Amino acid sequence: MLGLMQDAPINLVSILQHAGRWHGEQEVVTQRVEGGIHRQTYAETLTRATSLAARLRDWGLRPGDRIATMGWNTHRHLECWYAVSGQGAVCHTLNPRLFVEQLNYIINHAGDRMIFVDLSFVDALIGRLDQLPTIEAVVVMTDRANMPVYDTGSVALLCYEDWAADTGASLEWPTLDDNTASSLCYTSGTTGDPKGVLYSHRANLLHAYASCLPDVFNLSARDTILMIVPMFHANSWGLAYAAPMVGAKLVLPGADMSGASVQRLITQESVTKAAGVPTVWNTLLDYLDETDLGLHPLREVVVGGAALPASMISTFRDRYQVGTIHAWGMTEMTPIGTFNRPKAGFDVLDAEGQLHQRLKQGRVPFGVDMKIVDDQDDDVPCDGETFGRLLVKGPWTIDRYYGDDASALAHGWFDTGDIATIDSEGYMQITDRAKDVVKSGGEWISSVAVENAAIGVPGVALAACIGASHPKWGERPLLLVQCRDGQSVAESDLQKALSASLAKWQLPDAVVFVDEIPLTAAGKIDKKPLRERYSSYLTSGQ
Ligand code: AMP
Repeated sequence: MLGLMQDAPINLVSILQHAGRWHGEQEVVTQRVEGGIHRQTYAETLTRATSLAARLRDWGLRPGDRIATMGWNTHRHLECWYAVSGQGAVCHTLNPRLFVEQLNYIINHAGDRMIFVDLSFVDALIGRLDQLPTIEAVVVMTDRANMPVYDTGSVALLCYEDWAADTGASLEWPTLDDNTASSLCYTSGTTGDPKGVLYSHRANLLHAYASCLPDVFNLSARDTILMIVPMFHANSWGLAYAAPMVGAKLVLPGADMSGASVQRLITQESVTKAAGVPTVWNTLLDYLDETDLGLHPLREVVVGGAALPASMISTFRDRYQVGTIHAWGMTEMTPIGTFNRPKAGFDVLDAEGQLHQRLKQGRVPFGVDMKIVDDQDDDVPCDGETFGRLLVKGPWTIDRYYGDDASALAHGWFDTGDIATIDSEGYMQITDRAKDVVKSGGEWISSVAVENAAIGVPGVALAACIGASHPKWGERPLLLVQCRDGQSVAESDLQKALSASLAKWQLPDAVVFVDEIPLTAAGKIDKKPLRERYSSYLTSGQ
């Protein structure tokens, strides 16, 4: 028997329609790529997105077309997301920090017809249009005054504000099947070619609902959220949907994620919550250190994408009265997997117990299921000690990659590539990426544990632990350290700090101070070049 409720299919544009109608005066604030601050309301955002959608329709947009964006977090980029997906086409976010060859591969693999591009990237893009045969038009996300001039041959070059915004056009948004593709995001992948994760309206909508839950982002109309996490990486952690869904004020940093810019936006726009990767927060904390400025009225930062260091928790809390919430997820999960909001009973733990708990990646919301398994794919106990490969499933977890025939799942579960423990209360803790674990003799050493211990030492900016070849043990940990600008760290201090939290056999065999630890396009430590350079360090001394 079927239920007798309305059949109201999901189109993500309904989120913006809701925000425009019921939170119409709420602001979307953008730090413009061209400089200065731009303000518009959700009502205006809806009008502009509708206008853009009408233009795209008239241009010949077809359902299922892939339309790319290469842009920072701005109001225009937000409008593109809704205008494209809302018509049943696919908004394909490109990570501009990727290598040119990777970007070309991704654009051609997706078969993008049009690219919306920010001024920061337009020059590089136009220079290689000849390698992107599917592109018919480039829309520069700027106004007439800032519009660059290029000869793009048969590819149309359009100015966003002239072409799309405020045409006054209206359109009927289509009714879509819930599982219609909404957006596409490629994971940079450490081996092989990047792979496309194709989100659906249903997955994004369910994910947005879950994002707002008290144990997840805890988002409401009373919040002002600074969305630092980029729209071009991991679906901006779903915040581009969750914030309008509840009518939160949305602050978009544009191209400037410097400490000065982030601090200014937080205090001037009365930001209550902010979300980003640890490197962004390190930059902010360094800036605050130099300037003595504060973060009022910020209440909490959500830290994910890489492990939250203990020192970051205490600095935010003790100096700035800001809470840190640890979160874990991945592109393949839209991306939220776990959030670490304490359960009842947390307050009775002593300071050390609380810290221990906060460092975990957290618990799953409804919509994600997880388990850990051994090499034989057998479940291992959730005792907080035994670690295994972390598998996940749920309505916003990937089934298969774009263009692949084969499922990405084994027995219905997606292997995250992470190694983790889960404790009896359901808190998951990543011990490593499967490929980063240091395999020393029969034992596994968590590179994350070594890095976390090192990063707490004053003067350390970044730490990367890799497995270096060893004649007896197969691999032993080698620690590479980048010091903060103008500071140095004594190796003895480092070893002392590491000894406090690691067993003797887990201690790195050597520490190498380097000028710069490379980062990936997503701002995470890139261990691949480090392995290439240092994997024989312990045997050859270089
Ligand atoms: P991406 O799809 O690029 O966002 O990368 C996802 C991967 O980032 C995960 O599989 C983890 O290895 C890593 N990651 C994400 N969040 C965390 C976290 N809080 N702590 C440690 N690693 C994380």
